[in-house]
Amino acid sequence: MSVFEGFILTPKGFMEGRLESDASGRIGALVGHAVDESTVRAGGAGIAMPGFIDLHVHGGAGHDIMEGGDAALQVSRLHASHGTTSLLATTMTAPQEDLDLAFAALAPLCFQRGHYAARVLGVHLEGPYISEARLGAQPAFVRPANLAEIARLHAVAPIRLLTLAPEVSNNQALIADLVAMEIRVQLGHTTGTYEQGVQALRCGATGFTHLFNAMSALHHRDPGMVGAALAHAEYAEIIPDLLHVHPGAMRAALRAIPRLYCVTDSTAAAGMPDGDYQLGRHTVTKCLGGVRLPDGTLAGSVLTMDAALRNLVDTVGLTLQDASRRVSTFAADHLGLQDRGRLAPGAWADLAIVDRDLQVQQVWVEGALVKR
Ligand SMILES: [Zn+2]
Repeated sequence: MSVFEGFILTPKGFMEGRLESDASGRIGALVGHAVDESTVRAGGAGIAMPGFIDLHVHGGAGHDIMEGGDAALQVSRLHASHGTTSLLATTMTAPQEDLDLAFAALAPLCFQRGHYAARVLGVHLEGPYISEARLGAQPAFVRPANLAEIARLHAVAPIRLLTLAPEVSNNQALIADLVAMEIRVQLGHTTGTYEQGVQALRCGATGFTHLFNAMSALHHRDPGMVGAALAHAEYAEIIPDLLHVHPGAMRAALRAIPRLYCVTDSTAAAGMPDGDYQLGRHTVTKCLGGVRLPDGTLAGSVLTMDAALRNLVDTVGLTLQDASRRVSTFAADHLGLQDRGRLAPGAWADLAIVDRDLQVQQVWVEGALVKR
């Protein structure tokens, strides 16, 4: 059992009090009195926030999910040290044998607790069912979506999110089948039109992958996939490293998309010095706070969720309470998880405890202390 005393961010707002996890790793007692955010930010006590949830993680600590072996565990430990308590291991567009290898290595992490690392909730399959014309940093192993391949992988490790380009081949027609398999479909790496985006949402797609990046842009006479997202999306992910998206574009998206949430899209270079790293079958270079292909294309990030939180508060200007929803609660909501992403009795005791400068002091995953 773990105990925290100090400021606690609950779904009803901040309180000052005490939180205990029970023997099963869930939140038991939660008692205290309400306080306002200015008191919390001015105070010297620790602030317990819902642990961060990152639905788009390729790597960290020098390891890439596509490596297989214990890469995902190393990646999950690195991100846990930055306050992430659950994540989706995210695969790259790759030949089938590479995906098979990555999925086989992920299976034990998806089904077992107690690794003293961020909990791997499943897989985000990013490609290979994307547009050859909007690869971003994805290697060119694209192919049309194939239900048999997806079902086979899904049986090895659960696919929670799948990014596809709806305009490719018959991808659009498969969205309803994927939703029936309890896989959330996100639109991304796409040249699709506004109309194709709207149609994909009607078919059951529920999100957009790194909004603005690697998708058809908004033009007022040709609103593109970005226009479809801004006009119709309930959920979309965005990368708040201040390199992928200008803060002004983030503010515009925040006004348009009710549950815009943050992901890192982090690579092996996260938590590592400048140098060369693997991203799927690409070699990428970390320098000047970014990760790029040799031609300069941004190739994922070195972002961690604690830095994402600070960027939302310090640069974009969100309250800590609103920023918390965008690094935790809305991601849980998108996956349909009511027992993560919020500090309430019965929910998992997943906590990121930060100081007044929003630096991570302590992290709990399912009640277990993984960073002190
Ligand atoms: Zn990615």
